[in-house]
Amino acid sequence: MTDFTYSVDADGVATITWDVPRRSMNVMSLAGFQELDAHIDIALADDSVKGVVITSAKKDFAGGMDLNVIARMRDEAGDDPARGLFDGVMSMHAILRKIERAGMDERNKGGKPIAAALPGTALGIGLELPLACHRIFAADNPKAKIGLPEIMVGIFPGGGGTTRLVRKLGAMGASQFLLEGKLVDPRRAKSAGLIDEVAEDPVAAAKDWVLSGPKIVKPWDEKGYKMPGGAPYHPAGFMTFLGASAMVNGKTKGVYPAARALLSAVYEGALVPFDAAIRIEARWFTHVLLNPSSSAMIRALFINKEALEKGAVRPADVPDQKVRKLGIIGAGMMGAGIALVSAQAGIEVVLIDQSQEAADKGRAYTQTYMDKGIKRGKTTEDKKVEVLSRITATTDYAALKGCDLVIEAVFEDPAIKAEVTQQVQAAVGPDCIIATNTSTLPITDLARAADRAEDFIGIHFFSPVEKMLLVEIIKGKATGDRAVAKALDFVRQIRKTPIVVNDARFFYANRCIIPYLNEGIRMVGEGVPPALIENAAKLVGMPLGPLQLVDETSIDLGVKIARATRAAMGDAYPDGAVDEVLFWLADQGRMGRKARAGFYAYDEAGKRTGLWDGLAAQYPQASDQPDLSEVQHRLLFAQVLEAVRALEDGVLMDIREGDVGAILGWGFAPWSGGPLSWLDMIGAARAVGICDDLAARHGPRFAAPALLREMAEKGQTFYTRFAPDAQAA
Ligand code: NAD
Repeated sequence: MTDFTYSVDADGVATITWDVPRRSMNVMSLAGFQELDAHIDIALADDSVKGVVITSAKKDFAGGMDLNVIARMRDEAGDDPARGLFDGVMSMHAILRKIERAGMDERNKGGKPIAAALPGTALGIGLELPLACHRIFAADNPKAKIGLPEIMVGIFPGGGGTTRLVRKLGAMGASQFLLEGKLVDPRRAKSAGLIDEVAEDPVAAAKDWVLSGPKIVKPWDEKGYKMPGGAPYHPAGFMTFLGASAMVNGKTKGVYPAARALLSAVYEGALVPFDAAIRIEARWFTHVLLNPSSSAMIRALFINKEALEKGAVRPADVPDQKVRKLGIIGAGMMGAGIALVSAQAGIEVVLIDQSQEAADKGRAYTQTYMDKGIKRGKTTEDKKVEVLSRITATTDYAALKGCDLVIEAVFEDPAIKAEVTQQVQAAVGPDCIIATNTSTLPITDLARAADRAEDFIGIHFFSPVEKMLLVEIIKGKATGDRAVAKALDFVRQIRKTPIVVNDARFFYANRCIIPYLNEGIRMVGEGVPPALIENAAKLVGMPLGPLQLVDETSIDLGVKIARATRAAMGDAYPDGAVDEVLFWLADQGRMGRKARAGFYAYDEAGKRTGLWDGLAAQYPQASDQPDLSEVQHRLLFAQVLEAVRALEDGVLMDIREGDVGAILGWGFAPWSGGPLSWLDMIGAARAVGICDDLAARHGPRFAAPALLREMAEKGQTFYTRFAPDAQAA
């Protein structure tokens, strides 16, 4: 198998072409690196070769490193994984440094120019390799994405990208690419200094440059090199590094090891010559790869997320169910959002509401969204016209003729939903799948209104639809494989990540998030300072504290759900203490952010100005206060125990979905790789110990589920007990 091919043209320019067989996108493997190395050796040794162009035969340059390889490298490094990883990373550096030095001697004499020609997207190692070359040419392809997204999966650019980019752009200039993983198109990449030239034909431009006898010494290999913006002990550099450090700690609250390690690599690397800086980068990279958080994040956010998107849980024997014509009933907040993402994905949409005005309003949501995109330069007028032309807004159910999927997003009322289901059935053909976007009503009950319960399913979007990445697919008791395949194929079309769960109260995501919100509210009632509750949540990596999240989703929704749950559970209802606080706030008219009054106070523009001081008057601080970790344990265990129970009850069928769904659905501490992954990190025995302690002091909601207790006794983890099928990607 060859990932790279080598040829030399009549002018003496060698072209090394990257084209990994059987993959639509190039990814770098260890074997690939060795092939590249061998071709570079040949080019440098051959006197007839004047220079080299490295390019790709695919429409893109490369998607990055094969992260499965990194995971394997660590697992196979044996007794001394740190040494194994460090040596592996350093051998990669040696090849990249060979490209950068290109045969020059110590006085920077000799050597051959090596250029990179990028036809399209270049990410991760796909940009680190070009950064080691002497000049980077990119095609003028606005769809191409260029950048270093490693930080998003819990690592940082460890193929020299960190060291080279900081030396090229300065710490400040590089920070948005390294710390935020920002991706840009070629033109923006050129203006930011990430690449050197945008060209019609990048290979031809690169060849011309190679033959022009260019200077190839990198600035950092020249005497007297000074880092742009100043090194750490330069007055300007000092400010940059101080600011960056504060910003990183502010944003990550110290829970993401990769961001800290990246900063250390940048800071320490800036104080020493290039080759020492590369070794420092490799040490910090090794440090991050050995941190359980990085493997957990790679597993959840890269390997398993991708596996779910590619249909890991799709019924295998059902043919392609791609949606051609979609009906949406209810053009409110959710219906309008679903219409937008579907029309953007090229699907024809019929959007129905009770009045033409309401239907038009739903369609206008897409218009407003596209207008904003045009203003920001993200889309064009033509694209807007094209997307809008796919959405028909009407009150006439007859327009649903020919739909192969209809999603209902009307009011959360079983009687209205049942009526709508029957109206839809009368208008569509016998193959049409009917879905509901309900967030609380059992799918099995709603399916009773359908003639064909096997073709009825839950497709639960999160709000705002265009932003949220997860879609929860819920199987009712009678839901058949074709409906599941239809829902999965649809989610794939709109490029979101699906999880498939069985029907139960609140399904999976809401089932876990509600106890988190309740635990926060409960603590307010106990006299725990709200600031402690909110900060404890953030310091453990939750994007929003529970009280802020309740404000965002609205207090009245909380009251509504509490009333419905109480009615369903009767005497067994466990959350009276929560309701006391929640109902009191509702009585005060503090309905959350939309009312500019809730747990937080807001200014006229709806901006939070701090926690509302009326809370302290109603719920004065108790004399006995929990410490930070107690509050954190309560907030985390409220969620993770629910995830374990969902697995125990068979609502969750695959632990990958439990973890990926938690991070994408409600932002569960991404550094942990998800709730089950986090329990694996701390170990079932320790988790059971914490549960016993919390249950003794705070009640049976913290009792360890039998599954967890059994795993503690057997010394098991979720990712071993439920492997290989559930884990293998
Ligand atoms: P919404 O009130 O904004 O919109 C509902 C729309 O349905 C309204 O435009 C209404 O006119 C229309 N409608 C009502 N009865 C109808 C009928 N018989 N025929 C046609 N149209 C009818 O509500 P929403 O927030 O978009 O929620 C819709 C559904 O999605 C609910 O089931 C809700 O539980 C669920 N959901 C909501 C959220 C959320 O965050 N809001 C999240 C996930 C799921």
